[in-house]
Amino acid sequence: MNAIAPQVSSATPLPSAAELDRSLRDASPAEVIAAALKAVGRDKLALVSSFGTESATLLKVMADVDPAIPVIFLDTGWLFEETLAYRDTLVATLGLKDVRSIKPAEETLSREDPERDLWFSDPDACCRIRKVEPLTRALKPFSAWLNGRKRFQGNARADIPVVEDDGARLKFNPFANVSREELEAIFVRAKLPRHPLAASGFRSVGCMPCTSRTAEGEDERAGRWRGRAKTECGIHTMKSS
Ligand code: SF4
Repeated sequence: MNAIAPQVSSATPLPSAAELDRSLRDASPAEVIAAALKAVGRDKLALVSSFGTESATLLKVMADVDPAIPVIFLDTGWLFEETLAYRDTLVATLGLKDVRSIKPAEETLSREDPERDLWFSDPDACCRIRKVEPLTRALKPFSAWLNGRKRFQGNARADIPVVEDDGARLKFNPFANVSREELEAIFVRAKLPRHPLAASGFRSVGCMPCTSRTAEGEDERAGRWRGRAKTECGIHTMKSS
């Protein structure tokens, strides 16, 4: 079913994150996305996706609600070729109508990472210029965003609400409540294609230098920034403006 994007008057006050979180606490992912659309309208809502190993599931649920919701993809300059190909596969498979690939500012890269080794010397700074700053710019026109974090991923994600306020806009986490088994069921039911690297042991895929395979029994995000204290890139802790 494709929802018709509601027209939201600029004079309509947005419901608070706390109110929405209360009313959507037990809602399905599709109901959360439909509620986000209703709250702000399609022109003011974006979904942020890494086109990683689990991304197809949220994109599928979104496409069933409205495939024209803008999707922001951060092309950091360090992604695997397989991820770029997977983005194109999912755009075609799901009929996504508005995927925007966002790149870091060239002048910032030349100034702060001329040798492309910042990921090694200062990964927080690298994530800032390649992910956080470009996303902050890309989100400026929007009043709300959707993302695919799950509580079962643990660490900083263990307690995420369904709806929160990131300091500048509403942030919807439609998969906050879902289990790993439910995600797998979406993959199977919709016959979704897998990320090309999933079959070779990559259970969470980000940038090339900061992604490694995970061993049996390891946490699925253990391969990200392996050997460092870092577990998040910063886009979910930023206070955007
Ligand atoms: S994940 Fe690694 S390469 Fe990608 S932006 Fe962060 S530090 Fe840089």
